[in-house]
Amino acid sequence: MKPVGPIPPGYETLDGELAISGRTASALVDGAGGTPLFVYSRALLSKRVADLRKALPERIGVNYAVKANPMAEVVAHMEPLVDGFDIASSGELAILQRVGIDPARISFAGPGKRDDELEAAIAAGVTLNCESAGEAARSLAIGERLGKAPRIAIRVNPSFELKGSGMKMGGGAKQFGVDAEKVPALARNVIGEGAEWRGLHIFTGSQALSAEAIAETQGNVLKLAAELAEEIGHGLPKLNMGGGFGIPYFPGDEPLDLVAVGAALAERVAHLPPVLAETELCLELGRYLAGEAGVYLCRVIDRKESHGVTYLVTDGGLHHQLAASGNFGTVVRRNYPSAIATRYGEEPVEEVNIVGCLCTPLDRLADQAMMPRADVGDIVAVFCAGAYGATASPSAFLGHGPARELVV
Ligand SMILES: *Cc1c(COP(=O)(O)O)cnc(C)c1O
Repeated sequence: MKPVGPIPPGYETLDGELAISGRTASALVDGAGGTPLFVYSRALLSKRVADLRKALPERIGVNYAVKANPMAEVVAHMEPLVDGFDIASSGELAILQRVGIDPARISFAGPGKRDDELEAAIAAGVTLNCESAGEAARSLAIGERLGKAPRIAIRVNPSFELKGSGMKMGGGAKQFGVDAEKVPALARNVIGEGAEWRGLHIFTGSQALSAEAIAETQGNVLKLAAELAEEIGHGLPKLNMGGGFGIPYFPGDEPLDLVAVGAALAERVAHLPPVLAETELCLELGRYLAGEAGVYLCRVIDRKESHGVTYLVTDGGLHHQLAASGNFGTVVRRNYPSAIATRYGEEPVEEVNIVGCLCTPLDRLADQAMMPRADVGDIVAVFCAGAYGATASPSAFLGHGPARELVV
């Protein structure tokens, strides 16, 4: 037997089934026209932002990192809740423009921004988080051609990283950002060339569950930003402090102590270096805002035994939920939180392997998991599917097509 990860709070049982926003899994599936289906809860998205606001000092803005879940209805739901939006492509910009997000609230990070992407962002008035001197030069040239000063912040590659983070994006040689020691000269250059100076972006990692590690990193970020601002010789209009807040995916993971993070940050904000006194501060969060608000539902198509092992074969799989299969940035495969949604109220009685429908042994959703007895027609739920699910999975692989998505 292998345990499954902790089911996030906020999910209920109704008529013996998993219920999301007051509707049973089977009613949601019927309403959406079938499985596989991602369901995102408005109530859980809103609650998460409200909890954050309560814990964080008022001075700290919250940005939504759109790549976690770029579904237009999710973005529209976040629009009145968050301060800003961080995008990583012109495709994401187009989604935000369709939703009607004010470009002044958008910043664009990511290595390898093409000229056409820079042009779209500059024309719209989006802030570019510049990843290199070359990108800054191209942005200035495009701004010149458009007759529009580009709004430029510089993404810093700091010498420290977020300890215990699932994905390191700072420290040492990186394709992200400008090495810290090269930032002042580049900043002075873009300011001198007439860019609208927007400040710094310092992102150090993702998926950290330790409040202590996050607090320490935030201290380092503020210290570095202050040193760089002094050297640049201009104030920082804005400092994007990164994020890295993680969610529990696996057995034994404990939720981040948000109150502790907020208290440590309040302490730092109360004693900011003078050079940051007027600086607008924000965090950028993706999975922490959206991850636990989503569930992936798929249906059991076959139940079979092989050498004494029971397999529940579903119509879903890694083509929609790559991360749950263990093939997206994990070394050791562990079970995501999962359940039989149509028997949510029942006791687990048997050990099963829940797999997807793809012709590869990589396509596993839960290994050796204790579940209530399920049969063909039952619905399987995989939790923590609100971020890096639908758009972070190879949905064209094997030609089954994308999953449905529903916001309730
Ligand atoms: C991906 C990314 C994020 C969001 O990360 P989460 O772990 O989802 O919070 C934030 N900032 C940058 C620069 C990113 O690349």
